[in-house]
Parts: sequence; C-alpha cells; structure tokens
Amino acid sequence: MQKVEHIGIAVKDITTSNLLFEKLLGTAPYKSEEVISEGVLTSFFKNESTKIELLEATDPESHIAKFIDKNGEGIHHIAFEVDNIETEIIRLKKEGFIFIDELPKKGADNKLIVFLHPKNTNGILIELCQEIK
Ligand code: ZN
Repeated sequence: MQKVEHIGIAVKDITTSNLLFEKLLGTAPYKSEEVISEGVLTSFFKNESTKIELLEATDPESHIAKFIDKNGEGIHHIAFEVDNIETEIIRLKKEGFIFIDELPKKGADNKLIVFLHPKNTNGILIELCQEIK
C-alpha cells in the first residue's frame, strides 16, 4: 500500500464545486471525466503529491447519489495507490478485509480500482487504485 493517491468527495453540483475547489486550491481541475458504468461525473485537482476527486451522480441509483441521500455532501472515500492490485487484494483478504467487488474494474483517471467494505475499515470507504500501464 503506497501513498494516498486521492481523496474522493461527493458533491451535488460539480460545476459549482469545481469553482469552489479551484479557489481553494488555486488551480483548475486537470481532468474531467464521466464514468458511465458508475453513473458519475468526476473532476480531478492536483494538490502536491495527492489529488482531490470530485464526484457528482448522473444516475439516481448510483453509489454517489445514494451516499448523498444518506449523508449529504462530503468525503466519500480515500484512495491508496498500489503497484499490483491483484496482489494487494489477496493480501488484504487474508487479513480479513471484505471487498465490495470481487474483481478490479476500470475507474476514472486511467486506473484499475476496487473498494473495501467500510464495515471492516472503521466506516471509511477505502479504494485501492493501480495505474493502467
Ligand atoms: Zn476515487
């Protein structure tokens, strides 16, 4: 498990939040991307060695829409960079962690991603992400 690659924040209106984070961080998003399979619009801001990912739901049945219904806007997940996502899944399963999806899938920003179930991680949704080479 390597550095915190990004922090994901669930927002209701990504256009408004893009302007807010642009003012906050002093830099515009370097990438905006729709992930149709996840029903989200994303945008990414660089912040030193990590990134901020904003997520807006495009589908009322998406994870992000449900998260906002339940919790309101806010921190949705913390993503750790890994070299080899398959190896890390095996290691963490042995340690007793439970994954939301059995297999990694393609996420935003050219990454393979997988989420750990928050019930085993103090209520925090943890993402593992590996750059697609
Ligand atoms: Zn993420």
